[in-house]
Amino acid sequence: MSNKKIQMIPKIECGIVIDHIPAGDGIRILEILQRDPGLKNVPITFGMNYQSNKLGTKDMLKIQKEDLCERTIQHISLVSPGVTIKRIRNFEVVEKVSIQPPIDLINLLKCLNPGCISQNEPGLKTHFVLSDPENKRVTCVYCEREFFINELSPII
Ligand SMILES: [Zn+2]
Repeated sequence: MSNKKIQMIPKIECGIVIDHIPAGDGIRILEILQRDPGLKNVPITFGMNYQSNKLGTKDMLKIQKEDLCERTIQHISLVSPGVTIKRIRNFEVVEKVSIQPPIDLINLLKCLNPGCISQNEPGLKTHFVLSDPENKRVTCVYCEREFFINELSPII
């Protein structure tokens, strides 16, 4: 056996790489990408459980499209804060950012409280604030209830 490193996912010429995804979160990010109408018919490569110095094991996604829409990036930041988004041009990384959830989450998640005005007022945008980033908890601005991000359904 040779010790040569194997290029496990082919490089892309142009597009977006989502890297440093904790192993297991990749599938949830893939679900977000599948809901994005702007990514219909866009080639996406998904890799799971790669070795990572930083994380032990990681998942990775490569998207052959120049840009991701801001809403999709925000949804990804809620599911897996701290992942790296790299922009690739001519096979080179031209930009690299670690994404964090926004403080104000406008119309990204549905409130679970059936009595909340955001559930009953058509056209009203939901609004949560990131009240406890450490524990991934958000508070509804309207009814002031606190929830874990992953118990709330996303708004597409
Ligand atoms: Zn509410």
